[in-house]
Amino acid sequence: MNGIERWNTPPDLPKHMVIGGEHVDAISRRRMDTIDPATGSAFADVPQADAADVDRAVESAKAALAGPWRAISPAERGRILTRTAALLRRDKDRLARIETLDCGKPLRESLGDLETAAGYFEYYAGMADKLQGDTIPLGPDFVSFTLHEPVGVTAHIIPWNFPLVTTARGIAPALAAGNTAVVKPAEQTPLTALILADLLDEAGLPPGVYNVVTGYGPEVGAPLTAHPDVAHVTFTGSVATGKTVMKAAADHVASVTLELGGKSPVVVLADADLDAAVEGTLKAIYMNSGQVCSAGSRLVVERQLHAAMLERLVTRTNKLAPGHGLDDAPLGPLVSAEQFARVSGFVAGAHRRGLAIATGGGPAAVKGLEGGFFFAPTILDKVAVDDPLSQEEIFGPVLAVQVVDSPEEAIAVGNATPYGLVAGIYTADITRALRFARDIDAGQVFINQYFAGGVATPFGGVKNSGFGREKGLAALSSYFRIKCVTARI
Ligand code: ADP
Repeated sequence: MNGIERWNTPPDLPKHMVIGGEHVDAISRRRMDTIDPATGSAFADVPQADAADVDRAVESAKAALAGPWRAISPAERGRILTRTAALLRRDKDRLARIETLDCGKPLRESLGDLETAAGYFEYYAGMADKLQGDTIPLGPDFVSFTLHEPVGVTAHIIPWNFPLVTTARGIAPALAAGNTAVVKPAEQTPLTALILADLLDEAGLPPGVYNVVTGYGPEVGAPLTAHPDVAHVTFTGSVATGKTVMKAAADHVASVTLELGGKSPVVVLADADLDAAVEGTLKAIYMNSGQVCSAGSRLVVERQLHAAMLERLVTRTNKLAPGHGLDDAPLGPLVSAEQFARVSGFVAGAHRRGLAIATGGGPAAVKGLEGGFFFAPTILDKVAVDDPLSQEEIFGPVLAVQVVDSPEEAIAVGNATPYGLVAGIYTADITRALRFARDIDAGQVFINQYFAGGVATPFGGVKNSGFGREKGLAALSSYFRIKCVTARI
């Protein structure tokens, strides 16, 4: 029995949304399928909610702000988060399998995601009782101090590429700071955010503090971001939807954190450690089949190393046979038929414009998984700076190679996109690396290890990649507001 048959009908999948601590259907009773991207077949279904359900969820989150949650001490909030981390680890095998079925990524990556999600709860648990304010010296006749108050009801719009990790990334700091939350998972991947509700409940979170509404963007995301009782929206997704979310939030003056796309460069200078640069580039573009906001989707390489890098990358890439994530294949499928069509469209454009395709360049056939959304890992060589493959986020296993003749040109090429999420550089020269870090448009810079960092390192973008920071202590500032109290004595 292979992994696919074993998981055709996984036991105990969530069937309901979670609002006010209750497991509920959509008011309309509509439901929607969730699909295993490796087979193209539905394996579960969840409620398909709309604005009426969003109203219920926001009401419940608002009521919970004034309920037992308010009286729970910050230290106890921290303990609830610590217990949640332990429960995620307890259930990691089951949750990782469900995550893989829902979004396609290889099992080892889902297991890594479980550890990261637990890490967020652990990290912010430690902060819950340390969000303290200042005293402001105004002289002997005044006492002035600041209070850190929760902002209120927070909305979390989640993408499909890291369903649990992105939920944990926003929820852990939001809860640590005493807020309540309404989560809208991506329609493609609703399951782990629902299961998290049960773990938070088991950890002692009062009902209504964490609510999950499943459904489509226009039917659930739009009314949620437009809801007047939502004080902050944390959004991760495309630039176009991010702009829509920001406009909806503006109408009721809610704050937003926008983590949008990227077209991040992996810069390899001539003096780089070739082995490390090859490993880093492969990870940068093929993790989660390239469906990563911070993917290194452009290799910007100095001419002296170009041929050697390309040869090694192609050799290694050709060994990455796509397959079912539950079989822990080197590469999983794309998340959906839509995403498959989108990636295929970009690569078809590369064919039309006569770009040099070093490897890949089309769908991948996987025996026994003919209905899956598999795309061959693809490397496009010598892509011009203004080519759409250098400019636009593809969100697939497609690497654009750009050749440069100096470290200065590498920075110029690195910056020549509308995005600025992350950037990596491989070089033995720390001065060059730090100059690059100074001059590159990015919210995070990785030196000699792509994806260096973790839950503690602030993450977010500049330019079209968005604003606001998640992860690390920086994320907390979205989730409390400062009230300054001044008394004449
Ligand atoms: P993609 O096109 O890759 O699915 P999106 O940015 O559209 O990326 O989706 C990210 C998240 O935003 C998903 O949860 C999606 O349902 C949600 N979403 C889509 N449209 C809207 C909208 N108008 N308002 C709020 N959320 C939305």
